[in-house]
Amino acid sequence: MKIGFIGLGNMGAPMAANLAKAGHEVAGFDTAAPAPDGVRAVDSAAGAAADADVVISMLPNGQILRAVADQVIPAMREGAVFCDCSTVDVASARTVAEQALAAGLGALDAPVSGGIGGAQAGTLTFMVGGRQQDFDIVAPLLDIMGQKAVLCGEAGAGQSAKICNNMILGVTMLATCEAFALADKLGLDRQKMFDVVSTSSGASWSINSYCPAPGVGPQSPADNDYKPGFAAELMLKDLRLAQAAAEDVDADTPMGALATEQYKTFVEDEDGNGRDFSAMLPRFAARSRH
Ligand code: NAD
Repeated sequence: MKIGFIGLGNMGAPMAANLAKAGHEVAGFDTAAPAPDGVRAVDSAAGAAADADVVISMLPNGQILRAVADQVIPAMREGAVFCDCSTVDVASARTVAEQALAAGLGALDAPVSGGIGGAQAGTLTFMVGGRQQDFDIVAPLLDIMGQKAVLCGEAGAGQSAKICNNMILGVTMLATCEAFALADKLGLDRQKMFDVVSTSSGASWSINSYCPAPGVGPQSPADNDYKPGFAAELMLKDLRLAQAAAEDVDADTPMGALATEQYKTFVEDEDGNGRDFSAMLPRFAARSRH
């Protein structure tokens, strides 16, 4: 297939490279980052889109996505599919999809889970919103970049699934970190704490697969001085998207709201910026109740 790839950053570059490696013809555009091996660099978003069967974008936020869509959609040929893989607000995803459909194109929102490691290894999970017929066209490409793609519903459903998942993740990570800090103060050994919780009802991905305590459980960013991994500021971004969506549809999400506040303080007022989101454990460990 002919693919236009827009946004060749930490995630986009390895994703585009994997498509090229699999034999697809990939034209890439980024305002700053270079094109990875196998990807032909072009000098505009519209240039990447012209001729493409599928245009994939991997951009920082919804505002940039909307601006890029304004350039790309008119340049795409009829019947082609615009597939945005960025994590953005549900409203932007729906607006861009409507714009693409009105222009005779297909459209998918297909945010990912799995991080930079998953992008490099081609093991991402895609959560997708849009029409079945568009999903069927893009699915072979998602298979190359990832290990699983779930069509979750109509336009915006992919972003909805992503922010709900990450809201749970933010909340369980905070709960796990504060529980480890409490266990420390109760004199409980961290390894014993892990052994019990990871096989008891307090278990979650946050402790079992990404344990925030160094030297305990599987290898995780905690074992690498909390270098991300998944940076606290990216968790804050996703929690804010969840809160904005909750506001839009009048959903009561008190735990998500509290997690947003905690990560906001950590990133903006403390030393959380640039640290992994599991660095909440040393933060809680250094704090006291009063
Ligand atoms: P990044 O900042 O490394 O990459 C974004 C790229 O977009 C940059 O290279 C930037 O130059 C480019 N860009 C910005 N404006 C542009 C424009 N107008 N036209 C073309 N290119 C433009 O970010 P990333 O880590 O690759 O993340 C991309 C998206 O994936 C984000 O929405 C993020 O939330 C999501 N995501 C990231 C991770 C992760 O672990 N990094 C995991 C899951 C999802």
